[in-house]
Amino acid sequence: MDTLSNSLWAYMKDPEAFKRKLERRAEELFVTGYEVNPGNGLGMFLVATPTGQTYTVDALNETCTCPFQKSEVPLPCKHLQGLENLVVQMLDDLQAKAQLGYPGKAAGRMQQYHALETHWRETIGEVMQRQAEADAEGRDAQLLLHSDRDDREVREAGYVA
Ligand SMILES: [Zn+2]
Repeated sequence: MDTLSNSLWAYMKDPEAFKRKLERRAEELFVTGYEVNPGNGLGMFLVATPTGQTYTVDALNETCTCPFQKSEVPLPCKHLQGLENLVVQMLDDLQAKAQLGYPGKAAGRMQQYHALETHWRETIGEVMQRQAEADAEGRDAQLLLHSDRDDREVREAGYVA
């Protein structure tokens, strides 16, 4: 990622282009070598970058320890935006490798799969509960995870090209 001031400069120069680029990077986390594992506590995830950094993403409070998230760019960082895709792709990959990969590593991969899957399911459960509470009170929960899910469900249903 660019340095902090570069990010802010690029954002101010062309907010829409910056937003699109950030969204694309968020979608490409897994294929560009990022990994995710459960963090310590509900909604917490450890995102490891291809260069060996690890950032702690709090999916429920929508914070991340990366430098971008500390910048003044008023957008969630790619780790927050891309967390769900990264988790889903990581789970698919672990499952495929456990089934088709080197048998000696299968047990460890399934263990990693189940740990991540359970942690993710519990996080989504909490997101849905918060959403339901917000709905009951007639306010917008403004949860990144939930809106991502809606967007994807709509795309998969074929309503959006
Ligand atoms: Zn981040």
